[in-house]
Amino acid sequence: MSDAPVVTRFAPSPTGFLHIGGARTALFNWLYARGRGGKFLLRIEDTDRERSTPEATAAILKGLDWLGLDYDGEAISQFDRADRHAAVAHQLLAEGKAYKCFSTQEEIAAFREAARAEGKSTLFRSPWRDADPATHPDAPFVVRIKAPQDGATVIADQVQGDVTIRNDQLDDMILLRSDGTPVYMLAVVVDDHDMGVTHVIRGDDHLNNAARQMMIYGAMGWDVPVWAHIPLIHGPDGKKLSKRHGALGVEEYQAMGYPAPGMRNYLARLGWSHGDDEFFTDEQAQAWFDFNGIGKSPARFDFKKLENLSGQHIAVMDDAALLQEVTGYLQARGDTPLSPEQNDGLLKAMSVLKQGSRTYGQLLDKAWFILGSRPFAPDEKAAKALDTVSLGILKQLTPQLQNASWSREVLETVVSDVAEANDLKLGKLAQPLRAALAGRMVSPSVFDMMLILGREETLARIADTQG
Ligand code: GLU
Repeated sequence: MSDAPVVTRFAPSPTGFLHIGGARTALFNWLYARGRGGKFLLRIEDTDRERSTPEATAAILKGLDWLGLDYDGEAISQFDRADRHAAVAHQLLAEGKAYKCFSTQEEIAAFREAARAEGKSTLFRSPWRDADPATHPDAPFVVRIKAPQDGATVIADQVQGDVTIRNDQLDDMILLRSDGTPVYMLAVVVDDHDMGVTHVIRGDDHLNNAARQMMIYGAMGWDVPVWAHIPLIHGPDGKKLSKRHGALGVEEYQAMGYPAPGMRNYLARLGWSHGDDEFFTDEQAQAWFDFNGIGKSPARFDFKKLENLSGQHIAVMDDAALLQEVTGYLQARGDTPLSPEQNDGLLKAMSVLKQGSRTYGQLLDKAWFILGSRPFAPDEKAAKALDTVSLGILKQLTPQLQNASWSREVLETVVSDVAEANDLKLGKLAQPLRAALAGRMVSPSVFDMMLILGREETLARIADTQG
């Protein structure tokens, strides 16, 4: 089994969006498989027909697509496989590893009541487990698995270590309901087996399920997958993640302007580490990702760290790719798309804009000088910077700029000289210049702007302020 190619899967129940915990589970499975030349599969656990709308499934696919977590083959619908799940229960029934249980709800309740009164375990022990089929009544029944009654089940978990559960604490779990439909626990095992899943990586809220699922593997004589149950994500205060903390759908992170590579990097670090590495590429994460880097205690969600990593990813992204990303961001927000001219301008300014921007929103804020057009109506702060004295100094600057050769070095000298002549620090002169060039005080440096805009446009914008 250890030599078999790795097959992992993400098995979300459609809830209407791909939440951040699910996204991290998907990412871990993706990293594990991709780093080993294995397969990463997707199964939609859509047996709850009320919640599993096409829209809810589409939201998951969209979230995975944005995050760049590509899966192999087609997404599998668990609901579509219900007949196969039931067939496995019938096979176990035929092999005597499961049985028909005719106990009614009232009988089960009475059993529990009596057990409680006697101070015994209230786990239901069906009288039908070893009953002769000749004694079966013509009445509704459920199909139960014959759980092992002594010994112990050990979940050899790659994160939690060996987790031992006494078998006398497991009941004869139902496999088929009285209407013949398979239960979820059966569906998961049959699907994982049929999909050839070798490694199950999921939230540790499923750890208890693993013990019960192992019963089914055992009864069918199937190989048990490698288990890795990862601690859930908590908020910065150590409490269970809630909406307030960032337990949002991934599309909301897209709309907040985080880049997908930054999100992947951050989610990978949420509960997993590789030495002191914070910033890394997908290739590095795939090569490094392993179970021994997964922490045993819940990871804490931290927006600051997400922002920080996002900024680093934006800074190293290719300009053209960034333009596409920004376009996707505007679309996700339902904002007006950029015109072809604006796209050209953005691309020209991208190498400057991407420095120090932690989100696409911040990047676009700084891009106003290239996205807007003359005359720039200064906003309140910019208007303040353009007082009479400053306008006079900008006027002095004009002939100097007309004659300067348009290089950073020369521009810096020219502006410094004018500042000095007016007994001003460079920063003081930069303010009205910035206001003139951008109409607002958030922008790249004045020199970067001048170089991107060119002489003619720079002079025109300064002239616009002179009224
Ligand atoms: N559908 C389950 C969930 O969304 C996951 C089950 C599994 O990974 O085995 O929590």
